[in-house]
Amino acid sequence: MSDTKYIFVTGGVTSSLGKGIITASIAKLLQARGFSTTTQKIDPYINVDPGTMNPYEHGECYVTEDGAETDLDLGHYERFSNVHTSQANNVTTGRIYQTVINKERHGDYLGKTVQVIPHITDEIKRSFKILGDTGRYDFVITEVGGTVGDIESLPYVEAIRQMRFELGNSCIVVHLTLVPYLAAAEELKTKPTQHSVKTMLEAGVQPDIIVCRSEKHLGENIRQKISLFCNVPISSVMESIDAESIYDVPLLMRDEGLDEEILKKTGMPLANFPDLTNWENFLRKLKNPKGVVNIALVGKYVELKDAYKSILESFIHAGAENECSVKVHSIQSENITDDNVSDLLKGLSGILVAPGFGERGIEGKISAIGYARKNRIPFFGICLGMQCAVVEFGRNVMGLKDAHSTEFNADTPYPVIDIMEDQKSIDDKGGTMRLGAYPCRIEKDSIVYSIYGEENVRERHRHRYEFNNKYLDDYSNAGMKPVGINPNENLVEMMEIPDHPWFVGVQFHPEYKSTVARPHPLFVSFVKACIEHSKSSSSQ
Ligand code: GLN
Repeated sequence: MSDTKYIFVTGGVTSSLGKGIITASIAKLLQARGFSTTTQKIDPYINVDPGTMNPYEHGECYVTEDGAETDLDLGHYERFSNVHTSQANNVTTGRIYQTVINKERHGDYLGKTVQVIPHITDEIKRSFKILGDTGRYDFVITEVGGTVGDIESLPYVEAIRQMRFELGNSCIVVHLTLVPYLAAAEELKTKPTQHSVKTMLEAGVQPDIIVCRSEKHLGENIRQKISLFCNVPISSVMESIDAESIYDVPLLMRDEGLDEEILKKTGMPLANFPDLTNWENFLRKLKNPKGVVNIALVGKYVELKDAYKSILESFIHAGAENECSVKVHSIQSENITDDNVSDLLKGLSGILVAPGFGERGIEGKISAIGYARKNRIPFFGICLGMQCAVVEFGRNVMGLKDAHSTEFNADTPYPVIDIMEDQKSIDDKGGTMRLGAYPCRIEKDSIVYSIYGEENVRERHRHRYEFNNKYLDDYSNAGMKPVGINPNENLVEMMEIPDHPWFVGVQFHPEYKSTVARPHPLFVSFVKACIEHSKSSSSQ
C-alpha cells in the first residue's frame, strides 16, 4: 500500500464558496513545501463528463493533456500548481454508474444484487485511490462538488466515511463553509456552519479542519464558538476572507496556517516553510501594473463570467508578465455588423475572437476580424476564431464569395473549413471530438516561431472542423500562411498574416496551458503587441 495521504474538500451551506480555489491553494502550499500533489474534482451529476453541457449550464469545459473534457476547476488546479491533470482527476456520478453497470453486464458481480453500498461506493473509492496508487503523490486532494446535504452528494460522503475508517489519519476532511455577516445585527453568524457540520456528522464524517468563507475577519469568539460546536480545535478553524484576486488565496491560507494544520493532522513532516517566492513575484507584478491595455473578447457567451474562464485567466498571467493590467471588454458577437463594428471596437488595442460551436454570432465574429485585419489591430483567433479568420480572409482578400465552414453552410461553394475526415462517421456526441494534446511543427520563418522559440510544441484541442488543405497554396500565396502543422496528420494548426503587426489564428486552445509559472507565450506576445498598438495609436 502506498503511503499517500488523502485530503477531501467538502462544501457546506451554499455553492460558489470557492472550493476549487481553496483546493488549488492547498495543493500550491503543499507543493511549495516540497510535497508532490495532485488534485481531483468529483462532480455529482449524471452526465459522464461536462463535454455535452453548454456554457449556460456549466461554464467552460476544460480539456486536459490526455483529452478529457472536464470541469473548469481542473483549470484552476493546473494554473496554480503547473502540474498536468488527466481523466482520472475528474470523476462524475455518470462515469461511476457507467463503470458499475458495464461491470454488471460483463458479469463481474454475477449472482449479486448491485447496490449503492457497497458497489457504487467501492467504485467511488477506487476513483479516489487511482491517483494515490500510482505512488507518484504524497497527497491526493479531492474536491467534492455540490453541498453536503444534497441527495446526489450522499454516496460520496459515505465513501469518504469508509476511506477514513480504512486509512485513519492518512485521510482528512477540510470542510469549507459560509459565515455570513448580518448587517442589521452587525454580527457574523456561525449557525449555518454548525448545521452543515451536523449534516456531515449525521453521515458519519467529522470534518478535521473548517475553513470559513467570510466578508469580515473572524474574531476569537467566533472561532471559539465554531470550535466548540463543531468538535475541532481552535487551530483548525480558519478564515478565508474575500480576496482581491484568487491568486491571493494561497498566501492568505498560508497566513492562517492551513498547510501546517494539514501536515500535523496527517502526521507529515513540517520541515520546509512554503517557498512561494515566484508566486509572490507574480502577485507583485499583477498588483503593480505600469499601465492598462484594453482588449476585446468577441464571443457569444460573453455575459457568462465562467464561459471563457481560461482565456480570462491567461490574460491575467500575460498581463502580469508584461507588467500591464489587461482590461477585457466582452463584446457579444451577435451584435456586431459591418456597419457598427468600428463603433463597437473603437479604441480597443487588440481583438481576440473566442472558440465556440454553432452559427449564432458567426457573421459578427467575421466582421470583427475584418476590422482587425484592415486596421492593423492585433488579432488572436482561437479555434472557431481561427476558422472565422480563414473565412474572412477567403471572402474578402481572395474573393471566394460565400466561402464558409461547412459547420454553418454545408453547400458553400468554397468550404475553406471542413469537417475532419475521421469525424464524418461519428454520431455520438460525448467525448468524440478531436480532443487533447497533439504535436505541432512550427515553420521557422514565422512570427509564431519567434514567439515560442521552438520548432515542436504540443497544444490541446477540442473541435470537429479543420482548415481544408485543398486551399493551402491559395491562402499562402494570398498572404495568410499556415505556419504550424500537425506533422503526423498534416492538419493546419496555426495561421498568420506576416504582413500585419500581429495576426495569429490557432486551431488549438492555448488558454488551457497558461499557468502562473508559465504564462502562455502566445498570450504574452499578443498582450505585448496590444500594448505596442495602444502606444502607437495614442502617439498619432
Ligand atoms: N465549432 C468548431 C469545430 O468544431 C470550433 C470548435 C472550438 O472553437 N472549440 O471545429
